[in-house]
Amino acid sequence: MTARGRPRAAAAPGLRQARRAWRVQFTDSNASLALAERVLVRGEAAAEARAWALLARAFHRMRYATPAEALPEFAAADRAFAAIGERRGQILAAVGHARCLWMQGHFQPSLDALLPLRDEGLRCLRGDERALLLNGLAGCYSALGQPALAFAHMYQGLREGRGRGALGFDCVLHCNIAHELLLLGDVDEALRHLDEGLRRAATLRNARLDSVLRINRIAALTDLGRPHDALPDVEHLRAQPADANGRGASDAGFETMAIAALRAGRTALGLDLVERARQADADPGLPDTRIERAVAQAEALRAEGRPAAALKLLEALPLDAQGVGPRERCMALHLLADLAESLGHSARALRWLRACQRAQAERSRLASLARQQAAALQTELQRVERERDEIEARRRDSERARVALAALSARLAQQVAQVQALQAELRQQAVRDPLTGLHNRRHLNDVLPAMFALARRDGQPLAAVVIDLDHFKQVNDRHGHLAGDELLAAFGRLLSSQLRRSDVACRYGGEEFCLLLPRTPAAAAHRKAASLLRQWRAARFTFDGCDVGRLTFSAGVADTAHAAIAEPVDLLRAADDAVLRAKRGGRACVRVHDGVPAAA
Ligand code: GH3
Ligand code: MG
Ligand code: MG
Repeated sequence: MTARGRPRAAAAPGLRQARRAWRVQFTDSNASLALAERVLVRGEAAAEARAWALLARAFHRMRYATPAEALPEFAAADRAFAAIGERRGQILAAVGHARCLWMQGHFQPSLDALLPLRDEGLRCLRGDERALLLNGLAGCYSALGQPALAFAHMYQGLREGRGRGALGFDCVLHCNIAHELLLLGDVDEALRHLDEGLRRAATLRNARLDSVLRINRIAALTDLGRPHDALPDVEHLRAQPADANGRGASDAGFETMAIAALRAGRTALGLDLVERARQADADPGLPDTRIERAVAQAEALRAEGRPAAALKLLEALPLDAQGVGPRERCMALHLLADLAESLGHSARALRWLRACQRAQAERSRLASLARQQAAALQTELQRVERERDEIEARRRDSERARVALAALSARLAQQVAQVQALQAELRQQAVRDPLTGLHNRRHLNDVLPAMFALARRDGQPLAAVVIDLDHFKQVNDRHGHLAGDELLAAFGRLLSSQLRRSDVACRYGGEEFCLLLPRTPAAAAHRKAASLLRQWRAARFTFDGCDVGRLTFSAGVADTAHAAIAEPVDLLRAADDAVLRAKRGGRACVRVHDGVPAAA
């Protein structure tokens, strides 16, 4: 890869890989980790690339290792993003950090970390990433006993996560919505979401997601009293390693599988799974998992014919502790009542049964409240979403109109400029002589009266010089008309270069020229004309190797100071007279009008 051929890649080594590591975290979790590691071992990786790679690896650690191992990685990713001023990355690192806190059972701190980021996150994150944030919030609300808020955030997350460029996070949301429904006892609806999630996850290479979906399906089928139907999922999961390449070392779901196996009468399998739960994680962090493990252990004891030990174990559980969900509470209470009854402790059995009924009633109340509130919130969110879309559509429309208007006025301005340039050129053409570039006679007629009047008012003389090139016909005859044209143009250039800006030089006609020199007495005009004559004489021209020879002109000068000159036309006639004298006097000279008309 050369710097010349791939300038962007050269500017940020590894950035493409790091971004891809982040993008494929749900669709191909192993590839995500491998890409991230590849970027991180490269010493020369750009700061931005390192930051995204750290983030992708942190999320992988969180899902496949333990939250404790992921936390320092999130902190490192946050520092890396802060150093390059990438807010989006910082927010995502904070989302991961908060999720780790949640996984460790710190629900309120997790919510406290996420809430201040919500609005900014919804603005600057992409669809799937917004879903990640909303899911984090939902998890907190669920654990803190606010299922309505949990549902509302998850449903919104599901919508965000399904948009353009969705990267598979919708499967996670199906899974979490199902989990929430299971807590509230809406098992059939939960099963629908799980089947949908599994259908979608079939195209992903994400063993962890697949396993969590299956564990939830096992729980749902067990709750529906169909533990036998859960056995294929149990076998499937048992065949998979619960480690960094498979299902995640923590919360591997052995308890859920054990309960299903034991209730399906598969005692040996159940006992094995209880043992594996203990081996995988001596002390489960989450209260729910703790209860579920106790239920699994109690089922195991019952299967081994030790119901009294099972009852004792369950009676010691803190069923009212914070974070214990309604599903686990009901499951434990139900088993307690069963065990007490099977042991003939009718009073205890009745007490547990009543507690179980109360918990069930509370669970149903929560469920219907949640459904109601979630429906209301969802309607509200949909309204906001519609408004957002409408505003966006209006903004796009007005942006389009603005662009069209800008293009139109740019075109108009261009046309106006063209027309103006054309008009200016036409004006120039009307007053200019194209061959010499000097003004034409029409212009002279236009300006002479005003210049004459101004001279009179100022009490300053206006001089006129009429110039007639000598023997010009001969030049045409000897060298051709084109040569004559060229000499006329050269003479025009000479006049233009030698006159003041306030002077007017025009081609009077043919090979005759007229100069109007304001604030110039005849004597000064004479000197000027004489100087022009010297320069014209000194000029040398050859056409087709043939020298033109010495060029001269005859000039006549007059000014307005002369008593005989009363009108503009008098001034020109006087200068004309003087030219005639010059011609008669032998040409190649300048004559000043002396008041006597030249003899005809
Ligand atoms: P004189 O010294 O008496 O002024 O002699 P002259 O030949 O200059 O005078 P005359 O009036 O006899 O001839 C003027 C010539 O100028 C005739 C014409 O061919 C030439 N002429 C006038 N306008 C143009 C032009 O636009 N191009 C060229 N090449 N010649 C021109
Ligand atoms: Mg002439
Ligand atoms: Mg002439």
